[in-house]
Amino acid sequence: MNVLIIGAGAAGNVVAKKCAMNRDIFKSIHLASRTLSKCEKIKKECKEIFGQEIEISKLDADNVAETVALINKIKPDLVINMALPYQDLAIMDACLETKTNYMDTANYEPIDEAKFEYHWQWAYQDKFKAAGIVAVLGCGFDPGQTNIYCAYAQKNLFDEIHEIDIIDCNAGNHGQAFATNFNPEINLREVTQRGKYWENGKWIETEPLEFRKMIDYPEVGEKASYLLYHEELESLVQNIKGLKRIRFWMTFGDEYIKHMEVLQNVGMTRIDPVKHNGVEIVPIQFLKTLLPEPSSLAENYTGKTSIGCIMTGLKDGKKKTVLIYNVCDHAQTHKEVQAQAVSYTTGVPPVTGAIMLAKGFWGKEPGVWNVEQLDPDPFMAEVAKQGLPWHVRELKSGLGDLTERRKDKKAA
Ligand code: NDP
Repeated sequence: MNVLIIGAGAAGNVVAKKCAMNRDIFKSIHLASRTLSKCEKIKKECKEIFGQEIEISKLDADNVAETVALINKIKPDLVINMALPYQDLAIMDACLETKTNYMDTANYEPIDEAKFEYHWQWAYQDKFKAAGIVAVLGCGFDPGQTNIYCAYAQKNLFDEIHEIDIIDCNAGNHGQAFATNFNPEINLREVTQRGKYWENGKWIETEPLEFRKMIDYPEVGEKASYLLYHEELESLVQNIKGLKRIRFWMTFGDEYIKHMEVLQNVGMTRIDPVKHNGVEIVPIQFLKTLLPEPSSLAENYTGKTSIGCIMTGLKDGKKKTVLIYNVCDHAQTHKEVQAQAVSYTTGVPPVTGAIMLAKGFWGKEPGVWNVEQLDPDPFMAEVAKQGLPWHVRELKSGLGDLTERRKDKKAA
């Protein structure tokens, strides 16, 4: 397979290097991004550390004609979009024009509105079918691996799944007072939005980080976790049979929340332009300039991520609860591919998904697919070999109802 990776950030670095480590599958690897020096650094490391050559180009992926020209020049079988969600539709347009398969790890977001919805990308279904190509949406860890844990459980462990809680813990320490583990702008837009979960056919909104629960994470222990809206809820509601409730939880340390709330209170997370000394600036974009790049956190990062899905449902008429999870160590991923574990867990699934397409397990039917619509079994076998081993644990019960509302939050 020939692959074009767009985006040479924290997660794009992992994708390029993991492709380079699977040279039997990826015959040609081309990395393109807005800032060429970032591609040059990854190219140099691929050569020095893995003894592998990759090609690089400067590309502004917002410009469809530029992406079409690059695709026509290098003729990849697949474009892996590791740039930002703002580029999704422009890159899908370039893939359509050149009849090239597409994959990403985050759904499209308009730059001027923090809306995490699939409808813009699902609207490409007929066009991708007609062109005979596939788009694999949301193939990172969450969304991505978590959706595939649900699909695997639906296929192999349950007759019906009634409740899902996706639990996402980063128990790592990067030694900075405040930093985000992936692109700061995208991360802060996600965390500061209103929360939302789905129950009995309805979406229920909450204040941002209104509900909190202590959750016991494998290999990490109990951590305060907050209910957020996360994009995989939208597709899982449609694709998991018999579902009655689905929620998403993420851990945040008190320091992170304190910084974030101050930044929000003073207007630094605003996504609309404001006039400053006669010049228009978008506060959250300026904040991104000040914050550490997620890729720069990797070097002295210690601790682990522990992410999984708690699912309760029926098997042979009996109620059961299962947790499927992965634990990933920041120091180990730094040693392997010079990346912290959040970038690693984001980058390994798209490489595994690309292997699924190369081997013909996925992509038999053209169209636009969320990962849980594709066969989970070969993916689960491959992703463990690629560096994200997973485990299944039976639990006595699920997480239960929402009980602990933060004292300073009013009901939504
Ligand atoms: P980074 O900010 O580190 O990397 C993004 C890269 O995209 C940067 O190198 C940036 O270039 C490049 N880029 C931005 N705009 C363009 C453009 N117009 N043309 C070409 N390149 C562009 O972010 P991450 O690596 O942390 O995240 C990458 C993606 O992964 C995001 O979409 C994020 O939402 C997603 N993600 C998904 C997760 C999952 O589990 N599903 C988890 C974490 C992230 P420059 O260096 O010039 O700014």
